[in-house]
Amino acid sequence: MPEISIVIPIYNESLNISALHSRLDSVMQKMEVSYEMIFVNDGSKDDSIELIKKLSVQYSAIKYIDLSRNFGHQIAVSAGLDRAEGEKIVIIDADLQDPPELIMDLYAKMKEGYEVVYAKRKRRKGESFLKLLTAKAFYRILANITTIDIPVDTGDFRLMDKKVVQALRQMPETHKFLRGQISWVGYRQTFVEYERNERNAGKTGYTYRKMLKFALDGITAFSNFPIKLVTVMGFVVSFFAFLMIVYTVYVKYFTNQEIEKGWTSIIVGILFLGGVQLISIGILGEYISRINTDVRKRPLYFIKETNIS
Ligand code: UDP
Ligand code: MG
Repeated sequence: MPEISIVIPIYNESLNISALHSRLDSVMQKMEVSYEMIFVNDGSKDDSIELIKKLSVQYSAIKYIDLSRNFGHQIAVSAGLDRAEGEKIVIIDADLQDPPELIMDLYAKMKEGYEVVYAKRKRRKGESFLKLLTAKAFYRILANITTIDIPVDTGDFRLMDKKVVQALRQMPETHKFLRGQISWVGYRQTFVEYERNERNAGKTGYTYRKMLKFALDGITAFSNFPIKLVTVMGFVVSFFAFLMIVYTVYVKYFTNQEIEKGWTSIIVGILFLGGVQLISIGILGEYISRINTDVRKRPLYFIKETNIS
C-alpha cells in the first residue's frame, strides 16, 4: 500500500499532464514517501489518455481510469477515490492551479493530528472578475444557509486520511458536492493557506452553466433553507392578501365608493402572485429533480479501461 494516493481528474489537459507529473514526482521524491498517481480521464476530447497511458508504461506508480464518457469533475474525482489505496489521499486539479509543492505543507500539518487538511485560497490569480465575484458570493451564501461548516474559498484540493475516503465511499448520492460531504463526515479538519495560480495551459472545463448546476447541487444537498423560504413567502403574501380582502369587502358593502377603477390593482396582484408561485415551483423542482435522479440508483460512472487490478 502506498503512503499517498494522488487523485487527478482530467478533462482536456494534454498540455498540462507532463508538467504536472514531473512536479508531483519531484515533490514525492523530496518527501520520501511511497505513492501512486491516479489519473481519471473524464471523457477528454484531446489526446490526454494517450499521454497518460504512455507515462504509465514508463512509471509503475501511474494508474489510470478511463471513464466511458464525460461525467463531470466531481464524479471523476469520486471514481479516483473509489480506487485509491493509499494511507492518505490527495485531490488535486490537473491544470497546476493547485501547486503540487503545497502537498508537503498539507502533509506536515496532518502529522499534527488531523484527518483532513484542505487548501484555502488566500488569493486567486488570473480568473475573471465575474468568476471571482460569483464564487465569493456563493461560498458566503452557502456558509450561511447550511447547518454544517463548509469552509469558504476552498476547492477540492486537500489531503485526507483513508478513514475519510472510506466514509465518502458510503455516500452514494449522484449529485456530488465533495467539499460539503467531507465537512459533513467530521473528524478533525484544518487548513493551510495558499495563493491560487493561473491555469498553466489550456482552458477551463467549468462553464458558467456547470458552475450554476454545481452551486445548486451544493445548496440542495446541504440545506432546506430555500424550501423554508417558500413557506415564509407564502405566509407573507397571504398576510397582505388577507388585508386586501378585508379592505375590498369593506369598500364594496360598507361604503358608497365607486369600484370600477380596479384595473391596476388586479394586474399587479395577478402578476405578483404568478411570479411568486413560479419561483416557488422552481425551487421545489430543483429538489424534486435531484430526488428523481437519485431514486434511479444508476451507477455513478462506467469505466472504459483501467490498469488498476
Ligand atoms: N475536469 C473534469 N471534468 C470536467 C471538467 C473539469 O475532470 O467536466 C477537471 C479538469 O481537468 C481539472 C479540474 O477538473 O483537473 C478542474 O477543472 P477546471 O480547471 O477546468 O476548473 P476551474 O479551475 O476553472 O474551476
Ligand atoms: Mg482550473
